[in-house]
Amino acid sequence: MSVNACRIVFLTLLLPPALPLAAQPSAPSPVAIVIHGGAGTIRRQDMDPGAEAAYRARLEEALQAGHRVLMNGGSSLDAVVEAVTVLEASPLFNAGVGAVLTSTGVAELDASLMEGRTWQAGAVAGVRRIRHPIRLARMVMERSGHVLLAGEGAEEFARSQGVELVPNETLQTPQRREQLRRVQDRADTESKGPYGTVGAVALDRNGDLAAATSTGGMMNKRFGRIGDSPIIGAGTYADNETCAVSATGHGEYFIRGVLAYSVSASMRYGGLPLAEAAAAVIHGKLTAMGGAGGLIAMDRMGRIAMPFNTEGMYRGYIDGAGKMVVEMYRE
Ligand code: ASP
Repeated sequence: MSVNACRIVFLTLLLPPALPLAAQPSAPSPVAIVIHGGAGTIRRQDMDPGAEAAYRARLEEALQAGHRVLMNGGSSLDAVVEAVTVLEASPLFNAGVGAVLTSTGVAELDASLMEGRTWQAGAVAGVRRIRHPIRLARMVMERSGHVLLAGEGAEEFARSQGVELVPNETLQTPQRREQLRRVQDRADTESKGPYGTVGAVALDRNGDLAAATSTGGMMNKRFGRIGDSPIIGAGTYADNETCAVSATGHGEYFIRGVLAYSVSASMRYGGLPLAEAAAAVIHGKLTAMGGAGGLIAMDRMGRIAMPFNTEGMYRGYIDGAGKMVVEMYRE
């Protein structure tokens, strides 16, 4: 062997073996989060400046809490749970404390979440003594072997996991009791909103998507009624290959239309980009069905869609460039 050939063999032995393609370190994904606080009759002319500032502050707080998790390297699932937990704790929104009441004057809460990488999901329905149903939904996903637990069984599972059970009265606010009284005096069967459900979707550094939704359902609902929010595919859906979605609005329509999943299916099988898929579901299908509501959605590139067919929707995002936007009205 020539001296040069020897040198080449020697140098080749010194080189590290080439990594297989999948293990090549890739640039981390941009992180982004989008949230909603419910859709409904939210009009600039009806909103006093104090209330608007309060909603804005709480939406910003939730966005920042979720975004901080993502910036610190947390997962999209951690981020959506964090953001929804902030909104559940606020009496302004129809979730956790401040949930709307059934016709019998009780708060019955629904929540769900889904992870886009694993297609794992967890949900609780009709729980009466849980302060943060979204955290319990995560426990159902991670520790129960099931997707959806309801009522007493869900609360018994919560107790077994060390979750504190609180009296239903601690979830009720005077404003919601008054709202129920007014709705019942008018003999309406159900309030027309604002619906006030909360939700979040996020994209983390690994490029994984997740979605979460939490609600008290609809004011003056029949006790035992379960809406779309804890139904995977109706109120919540996530698939890394398409998008993550959280919905809000008149739940019966979202269940019958399987609307959260429809956004994903329109992308996967119809080849639509996120914005078109989300608009087709809300302005096409939901509107054609005669339903009211909206949704938030994000794809793996961090693109965001927030369509609604009501007069407003509490919503906001922090995008991949770190820009924060909070909006409420149609225009
Ligand atoms: N979708 C919820 C339900 O029907 C209500 C809402 O979004 O405000 O239970």
